Amino acid sequence: MSAYDERPWLALYDPEVPAEISREHDSVLEMFTAALCRAPDAPVIKYFDGVITMSELDELSGALAVALAERGFAAGDRLALFLQNVPQFVIAALAAWKAGGIVVPANPMYRERELSTVLADSGAKVVVCLDSLHSVVEGARPGTPVEHVITTSELEHQTRHDERIFGSGQRARPEGPLDMAELIEQHRGQQPDPVHPGPDDVAMLPYTSGTTGPPKGSENTHGNVVFNAQVYRDWMPVREGDAIYGVAPLFHITGLIGHLAVALLVPVPLVLTYRFDPVVAAEAIAEHGVTFTIGSITVFIAWSNTPEVTREQLAGLRSVYSGGAPIPQAAIRAFQDKFGHYIHNGYGLTETNSPSHAVPFSREAPVDPASGAVAVGVPVPSTVVRIVGEDDQELPVGEIGEIVTEGPQVAIGYWNKPEETAHAMPGGRFHTGDVGFMDADGWFYIVDRKKDQINASGYKVWPREVEDVLYEHEAVREAAVVGAVDPYRGETVKAFVSLKPDASASEEELIEFCKQRLAAYKYPRAIEIRDELPKTVTGKILRRQLRET
Ligand code: AMP
Repeated sequence: MSAYDERPWLALYDPEVPAEISREHDSVLEMFTAALCRAPDAPVIKYFDGVITMSELDELSGALAVALAERGFAAGDRLALFLQNVPQFVIAALAAWKAGGIVVPANPMYRERELSTVLADSGAKVVVCLDSLHSVVEGARPGTPVEHVITTSELEHQTRHDERIFGSGQRARPEGPLDMAELIEQHRGQQPDPVHPGPDDVAMLPYTSGTTGPPKGSENTHGNVVFNAQVYRDWMPVREGDAIYGVAPLFHITGLIGHLAVALLVPVPLVLTYRFDPVVAAEAIAEHGVTFTIGSITVFIAWSNTPEVTREQLAGLRSVYSGGAPIPQAAIRAFQDKFGHYIHNGYGLTETNSPSHAVPFSREAPVDPASGAVAVGVPVPSTVVRIVGEDDQELPVGEIGEIVTEGPQVAIGYWNKPEETAHAMPGGRFHTGDVGFMDADGWFYIVDRKKDQINASGYKVWPREVEDVLYEHEAVREAAVVGAVDPYRGETVKAFVSLKPDASASEEELIEFCKQRLAAYKYPRAIEIRDELPKTVTGKILRRQLRET
């Protein structure tokens, strides 16, 4: 038995958090139904001044599920959500599950080519999108098996909207697609034939570049989702009477579990504001009595640096967590000085359904004196985490190696990618591609990454995808993309390029070329044109060397 099996971190748990959590429900549906029976009138979504209760959510999602089933959407079919943080995200996700389907969340910042990859790979039969994103969906659709597009308006489910976000806010309904509100009206009061997914059935396919390259759908099961929703409830903790502010995007695993799933489990209101704006978010937190939030550190930095956001507005917060990217100590201090709240670190991946590690609520994370890294926390209940070397053998406590996670939150694989699954998750032991160590008390620290992934404000960018776009430019001979240090985003995308003989292109022109084809967080903010890029003797571009320059 090794130090990792002994789980020294259990001594750091809050007294009321059990060392083991047993899953209380077999599926997200069962979890929702149990909460619905306990609290049918509890508000579960708040969107500006619109409120949806548990029984209303049941009715809205039931009607949409019937409309989906009528159109041939059946068990195991995929429904893609191409939406911002709007109530319809929750309604449509629940409708897909009620119809026996699998949810495919897609980043609404995607351009056509990025969305097309996700739709084709997942084989989505239905896409639900905002009116404003319909043209992107139509552009992405050729070559994918999409049969139906359902559009909806960001102005639904609210009577007062915020001009800072929506401007004048008139609905411009596109011609052609199905309309979500109409579908719901047609079937109001109906529910589909009940389905009973099991804990090992896939509930969602969030796309991630994972440890090895192009986007892959992580097969997150109903059991995974229920388990980690319970972790949020017991660990952060989220209790009856609390309210969650949905600062993380709902399409990302942090939003899916740390907002949506836990809100359905307890149930508690999930406060949504379409997208993050520091002022609008602070107003919503004050207005709706929000007690818990989790997001990327950049949102907390934004609050610290926005003079209009006051200490009083965020006074009701009791529990604040940050995940998805390293948190600088200075950002914790600045937030604490201004608002009086400590930011707890949490660590996990799309494949671990959000946190595999978190700082216990009653504690503050220690800092590694050598690297300055703030501890990411300790493993959550029923989870065993090891540090392994190149040969996949466990390393002694304190030594730096790859983080390997085993537990009920680990996804069962990548959609239609058995080789990548076998490589990343042999025997259910998930090799995260993150490099770190555990100290003698059981705290974990991340000091590096094995993977080339760039982490810009928690948004993950895979260099290959950006390089592929650069190679499409007629003047580009070679391209290498790396993460450059950025004080606000943590990292930002930077490209090194060499040009073909006699070709010419300016840095601005290449940036614009990428901007047209990639989501806003992916295109390079800086491009350096060089005569030659450094290479190994075998001709492989030395990305690490470029990163260090
Ligand atoms: P994603 O799949 O988008 O959730 O990204 C997961 C990756 O984000 C991990 O592999 C880490 O590289 C990074 N990450 C997540 N949480 C943290 C954290 N608290 N500190 C440092 N890196 C993190």
